[in-house]
Amino acid sequence: MRCPFCGNVDTQVKDSRPAEDHVAIRRRRFCPACSGRFTTYERVQLRDLVVIKTNGKRENFDRDKLERSIRIALQKRPVEPERMDQMISGIVRRLESMGDTDISSKLIGEIVMEALARIDTVAYVRFASVYKNFQAADDFEDFVAELRPPSTPEG
Ligand SMILES: [Zn+2]
Repeated sequence: MRCPFCGNVDTQVKDSRPAEDHVAIRRRRFCPACSGRFTTYERVQLRDLVVIKTNGKRENFDRDKLERSIRIALQKRPVEPERMDQMISGIVRRLESMGDTDISSKLIGEIVMEALARIDTVAYVRFASVYKNFQAADDFEDFVAELRPPSTPEG
């Protein structure tokens, strides 16, 4: 695993343990070149999912993008990070078990709303209001940008 700080590929695993109710393995890693420390998660990937956007374009499913949008919706809400991770894993498992590797962006949005509604009403309303205004929903990046509060300081 390449060090995210210095690019050295020869990093060491210092500690491995189960996370997210045993659906993931959390590994703490150390880079001897720059003494950087970072964490990786290992998960089962049942199959490669493809997102079909409303404009018909295909894009590989990206768990990180999904996580980002959910994280923004849950910003400053009293939800444990562990619970959020479990929710995201649950969404991904559900997507993976749908019997089709092609999944519409619309369906993903609906599943996320459903999951958020169960965990935090405010986060659900945040997500849903942006999602419903976002008729085109062509690009998940645009959607995530839309969700971001305008007060976010830029570097
Ligand atoms: Zn390094």
